[in-house]
Amino acid sequence: MPSIIVAIDGGAGSGKSTTAKGVARELNFFYLDTGAMYRAVTLKYIRCGGSEPLDMKLVQEIIGSTHIDLVAHNDDNRVYLDGRDVTLDIRMPEVNKMVSPISAVREVREWMVNLQRLVARDKNVVCEGRDIGTVVFPHAQVKIFMYADLEVRAQRRVRECAEKEIPATLDEVVENLKFRDNYDSGRKHSPLKKADDAIEVDTTLLSIEEEIALVRKIVLEKMSPTQSPS
Ligand code: C5P
Repeated sequence: MPSIIVAIDGGAGSGKSTTAKGVARELNFFYLDTGAMYRAVTLKYIRCGGSEPLDMKLVQEIIGSTHIDLVAHNDDNRVYLDGRDVTLDIRMPEVNKMVSPISAVREVREWMVNLQRLVARDKNVVCEGRDIGTVVFPHAQVKIFMYADLEVRAQRRVRECAEKEIPATLDEVVENLKFRDNYDSGRKHSPLKKADDAIEVDTTLLSIEEEIALVRKIVLEKMSPTQSPS
């Protein structure tokens, strides 16, 4: 039986991660957080002394010598950079600031897309990111594009940071979300955009439970009866 891909794209803090994790858990699919992979490359660049403007020689060296692993762990992903667990480190403010420029580099994207397809191979997957429905899995059976008002997204992100004990003020978060969305939408290679056949979901007024229930319903409706997991 062919595996099922659910592609969820959207701007920073739009509710993708929470929804993707919840839907993957309920349908017993593998959850794939592609943003975590771009964050891991970015962390490596920072740890190697990289800053802005981008040092392209360093970026090339990193592409040729870095190992990134994504492993399922309690409904979430743990991320390993050259064998070390960096799951928490990749959420730090330094990474938030640098991740969009690094993700705009064509060679970085080619590397990541290959890796993402490899990780997802032969699995039923809920995959979230910016270019999943357009580039990584253009033939995904289900495509969702998530939105939410900036203020609501920022408040959610501040709460998440507090839970992880990561320092973040509302103003900083608003600025970073705006910066990343503009950068990610405006870049030349695989910009953040809705796939033509994606279903739009506005999460501004939805609770987490409602988001998950809505997307789960869309997935089950889209899947043919023979593919339904339960
Ligand atoms: O999803 P998250 O907010 O963790 O993603 C961090 C950054 O990684 C995004 O702002 C974007 O620059 C980049 N990204 C990307 N393509 C993806 C996933 C994330 O360019 N598929």
